Amino acid sequence: MKAHNYKPESLMMSYGYKPELSEGAVKPPIFQTSTFVFNKAEDGKAFFEVAYGLREKQQTEELGLIYSRLNNPNLEILEDRLCLWDKSDDCAIFESGMSAISTVLLEFLNPGDLLLYSSPTYGGTDHFIHHFLQKIGVDAIGFDANHSKEEIIQLIESTGRANRLAMIYLETPANPTNAIIDIEMCKEVANHFTKENQQVRMAVDNTYMGPLWSHPLEHGADLVIYSATKYIGGHSDLIAGAVLGNAEVMKRVKTLRTFLGNMASPHTCWLLLRSLETLKVRMEQQMRNAQQVADFLDGHEKVEKVYYLGLLKKGTPEYQLYKRQYTSPGAMISFDIVGGEKEAFQFLNHLKLIKMAVSLGSTESLAQHPASMTHIGVDPKARLAMGVTDKMVRISIGVENAEDIMWDISQALDAVKISQHEVNYQMA
Ligand SMILES: *Cc1c(COP(=O)(O)O)cnc(C)c1O
Repeated sequence: MKAHNYKPESLMMSYGYKPELSEGAVKPPIFQTSTFVFNKAEDGKAFFEVAYGLREKQQTEELGLIYSRLNNPNLEILEDRLCLWDKSDDCAIFESGMSAISTVLLEFLNPGDLLLYSSPTYGGTDHFIHHFLQKIGVDAIGFDANHSKEEIIQLIESTGRANRLAMIYLETPANPTNAIIDIEMCKEVANHFTKENQQVRMAVDNTYMGPLWSHPLEHGADLVIYSATKYIGGHSDLIAGAVLGNAEVMKRVKTLRTFLGNMASPHTCWLLLRSLETLKVRMEQQMRNAQQVADFLDGHEKVEKVYYLGLLKKGTPEYQLYKRQYTSPGAMISFDIVGGEKEAFQFLNHLKLIKMAVSLGSTESLAQHPASMTHIGVDPKARLAMGVTDKMVRISIGVENAEDIMWDISQALDAVKISQHEVNYQMA
């Protein structure tokens, strides 16, 4: 019989777990233990030699369990399963998206290095770049979706530090505007500055689209990062992060994780294993709902503009990039309400089914006001430049019935009283 290659969704219930090692339990138990017993002193020595990189693992050798900061069955099974979606060599799970991001930046940047990043980027990442990295002598320069490859190269050269460019850090689609960055184009920028003594790594925060709808490693990224708090966890009941990439970069990431000690706990990993079983059905339902909601919002008289990849016009350069980089428009919608903060708040305060909260990618729909909530820390001028105004509302679409979501949005929009002042202000 011909070997059959299962799709990732078929392997989420079984891959990397042997029931016979756990009394036949169909699901991995929670390995709530800090340390593991060695059978022989020789085993302990062999495990440590491999774990500390003193020698490479032999092909037939199984890496033994030592201590739960280094490895734990729940952590390892989860990492093996997550690798399947992005077809990566290895994966490291962290206790939060921010610990995944900060560990990658700390490992691949040295004092004096230059970091290029796409703007807008997640508020926590932005803060880490501008407050912590700056303090240790790493300079950062931002660019956005409107910059061409030549302009980005120019920008890097204008810093006078082009020979110290060490990392390109991307977040695409951008939160909350859904602006998209061309990963392959950025890889060309990385190649342009890569020399024998200067390696330029590229990391992509794929939280908005992954691991289902975009695979940055296929487009030239060295590392892909997730806030697993979002779609991967998917139930708003845990905080976690993930980093994936080839064996060489992941060895470095995992080593730093061992010494920072910011791996996820067995219980968090167990919850994530449960979440992975329904990842595809959840994300696909969320996307189908989002497409309907976006179409509904698009024609509404109280809605000025809808930011959703499924509404890009065919034939435009953005549409071509979207088709090249993504397999779905996702489930994140932002829209400008007619009016300003007052109208946006009226809308949010009248929602009944949709919860008002930050975060995204979960089974329940969540709405928030970026200018006064997730993006309040961004410099007001920069915030306006990226299109995040007082009239913008962001909704993460969940798995509820699409008619019910639209009914809720419709009644909340009906409750909004647009003042004449705001209308005149809009037209001016
Ligand atoms: C939420 C989020 C993060 C941070 O992840 P945490 O799990 O909250 O630490 C990073 N990037 C993006 C795009 C996010 O949405």
